[in-house]
Amino acid sequence: MSVTKNLLKFKNKIPENIKLVAVSKTKSPATILETYKAGQRIFGENRVQELIEKQAILPKDIQWHFIGHLQKNKVKYIAPFINLIHGIDTLSCLEEINKQGMKNKKIISCLLQIKIAKENTKYGMSFQELEKILESKKQNHFQNVKIKGLMGMATFTKNKMQIQNEFESLKNLFEKHKKTQNWSILSTGMSGDYELAIENGSTMIRIGSAIFGNKKT
Ligand SMILES: *Cc1c(COP(=O)(O)O)cnc(C)c1O
Repeated sequence: MSVTKNLLKFKNKIPENIKLVAVSKTKSPATILETYKAGQRIFGENRVQELIEKQAILPKDIQWHFIGHLQKNKVKYIAPFINLIHGIDTLSCLEEINKQGMKNKKIISCLLQIKIAKENTKYGMSFQELEKILESKKQNHFQNVKIKGLMGMATFTKNKMQIQNEFESLKNLFEKHKKTQNWSILSTGMSGDYELAIENGSTMIRIGSAIFGNKKT
């Protein structure tokens, strides 16, 4: 099936108020352009080099999201155009984004990544670290960063109960701070678990293989 058909079929399955990030990592500019022509505007990438190469040649009204682990020394390459950075898990990275925001005279939107999975490989801060960041006065001094909400990845498992519990714990954390922090985005859910994510308050899902398949195209 073509990526266009996949995209439209997928969009029909999800509620209209859910934002869809098409995760286009490893996919060619031609493939991205195909889904762009079908109306998709938000694309997610997880490698800085790949992202800047694609951004340079693809339509300028694409909203690029960075969904990988962002190294501080690479913030400067994406700061001029990035629309949302999903995976922030340290205060020092926020500091660097603030600095680059200042240089580019813009406010850069970010999500804080919370570790909910039991696996050791997943990045993210603990619930306690989040509370510390929210309490720290420093956060309020970041004039060029806007924290818009939280991001999380569930454990890669067939155990639905575990995924459910992980998403639910993140939802509760999000709800706890949403009003006071003026948050609007909860980024959870991928091809294998987006339904559970939506049931647990996700406002933004990140979908790769369900649209583009598993092969490089
Ligand atoms: C690759 C990736 C996705 C998309 O995964 P699929 O299972 O292909 O939908 C979502 N989020 C992050 C952070 C990713 O790295």
